[in-house]
Amino acid sequence: MAVPPAIRDAYDPERFRADGYRVVDVITEALAGWQRREGVVLPWRAPAEARAAWASEPFGGGDLAADLKRILAASTALAHPRCMGHQVPPPLPGAALAELVSAILNNGTSIIEMGPAGAPIELAVIDWMCRKLGYPSEATGVLTSGGSLGNLTALLAMRQAHAGFDAWKAGAHAGPPLAVVTSSEAHYSVARTLRIMGWGDGGAIAAPPDDNHHLTARAVERALETAGDRRVIGIIAAASSTATGSFDPLDELADLAARRGLWLHVDAAHGGSVALSAAHRGKLRGIERADSVVWDAHKLMMMPALVTAVLFKRGGHAYEAFAQQASYMFSAATRDQSWWDLGQRSLECTKRMMAIEVWSTLRVHGEAWFGEVIDRLFELTRALADRVTAAPDFELALVPEANIVCYRHRAPSGADSDAHNRELRKRVVEDGRFYIVGTELGSRYWLRSTIMNPLTEPADFDDLLEHLRTLCPR
Ligand SMILES: *Cc1c(COP(=O)(O)O)cnc(C)c1O
Repeated sequence: MAVPPAIRDAYDPERFRADGYRVVDVITEALAGWQRREGVVLPWRAPAEARAAWASEPFGGGDLAADLKRILAASTALAHPRCMGHQVPPPLPGAALAELVSAILNNGTSIIEMGPAGAPIELAVIDWMCRKLGYPSEATGVLTSGGSLGNLTALLAMRQAHAGFDAWKAGAHAGPPLAVVTSSEAHYSVARTLRIMGWGDGGAIAAPPDDNHHLTARAVERALETAGDRRVIGIIAAASSTATGSFDPLDELADLAARRGLWLHVDAAHGGSVALSAAHRGKLRGIERADSVVWDAHKLMMMPALVTAVLFKRGGHAYEAFAQQASYMFSAATRDQSWWDLGQRSLECTKRMMAIEVWSTLRVHGEAWFGEVIDRLFELTRALADRVTAAPDFELALVPEANIVCYRHRAPSGADSDAHNRELRKRVVEDGRFYIVGTELGSRYWLRSTIMNPLTEPADFDDLLEHLRTLCPR
């Protein structure tokens, strides 16, 4: 039974080589153009128009390199130095190449037979991250697809360890209603996680942050007093917070958690990487006392999305989140004897070999490289904040602790500041030469920039403020 030519041709290694060189050329051109600040950051098109245009392309007969080139040109250019929006980095090109190998191998990594390199490399990366946080040697965890899934994984383990009943077996309502205390500015994945676990609206007791957007132990204590008949089992801290990049005082929250017998979870999706910077590591002081930590490598470690670590100080907790055993997957022996089968610790069955991009980048550049990137990003961020402070027509929300700045243009007298800045951001998006986002602090609207590209220069910030002045409604 001969392989049909169309199938043989699609799998032809020489076809891959030829396509591969062309695709790498296309990507290289795009990278070089962005670095020269050519073109727009965001090629804005009305959503309905864009949808119709892509849907109109016939299937069959396409040219891979040419099509990918058009997709590159039609996408938001995170690697453009004037992209100053969300907390997503310009990925390291070398890490993208590592990801290509993951795509070719398709080793699912959940069981060691399907990841004889991927699984041990994942464990090496996990162990390294635990050490960087100052965790004890028994600490362990798993890599998973995103901070949102990471928070769910950590809080499932928290529930299993602290609920006082077996919610996994008997169900979410086999005991008293459960709750955690969290900041009212926590990432929305925390609220979603609590609802997915079946805790409903009452699952989160939201404590107001202080003026610098920190969740303090005092605010948590006050929130605890409002628990009523709910059994509070944990505190969710942020390092750093999504909206403002503020680092919660982890030491004092760890003291409180210890006093009250609560689980401390630190959502360090954004700021976990700060552990790699000698200059800024102090912002995470106390993180080594947290029961669980979520740390996104696809934020300040410059990896392509998604690579998230869920780490547990006491390694046994890594197995609590998904307490069941699937006998066809995991060896019937006790879990202690099959620690190499990572699928026991994560919701995902098949997943990308996400550790190999972290590991190979560490191999090539070393640890200090990451610290240098973070120091530069934080320094650039202060430079933008300084310019906003110095500009009489702009206003800074707070001095940035990380690489996130919230600011706004002062509206003409009599105009509504929120509406003015919302309209301004809309114009920035449709113009496309810069990209910034917005956020609400309290009930006020602010422009927001996350500085993720170490190739951005302070002069880009001068140009940004000038750009905003030109576009703002009058
Ligand atoms: C980005 C972020 C998340 C969500 O992570 P994803 O990887 O985007 O799912 C959760 N919490 C915080 C604090 C974040 O900054």
